Amino acid sequence: MDPISPLEQALHAARALVLADLVAREVAEADVVSLVEESIAQRRWWVEQWPDGAAFVAGLVAQDVQDALLERYGRWPLCPVCGSGDPHALDVEPELGPDPHWVCHKAGVKVAAVGSLGAATGGTVSS
Ligand SMILES: [Zn+2]
Repeated sequence: MDPISPLEQALHAARALVLADLVAREVAEADVVSLVEESIAQRRWWVEQWPDGAAFVAGLVAQDVQDALLERYGRWPLCPVCGSGDPHALDVEPELGPDPHWVCHKAGVKVAAVGSLGAATGGTVSS
């Protein structure tokens, strides 16, 4: 048997990270999970064309899912840092690079690594 290729590992990791963030924000419903699967399928093709981009897949999938959610559900993930003002979504930085993070451009802060949103929101709830 072949070992799992780096490409498949990158796709698995991206899927797990983005799902973790969706679960953290309680939007990991069946139809949302299918958005992740759609993105993974597209990015599989993309990374097969450009294997050097494997490290960028997590950030790209996060942005794909963010875009898809914006069309169907609304902004995701909402910024947990800014307590007042208009609710706004976090952005992924770098847009095309390794080690992607969620950032708030309004506050100018890195909120969490993609996949770690749950840990970042634990202490800063506005209920
Ligand atoms: Zn913010």
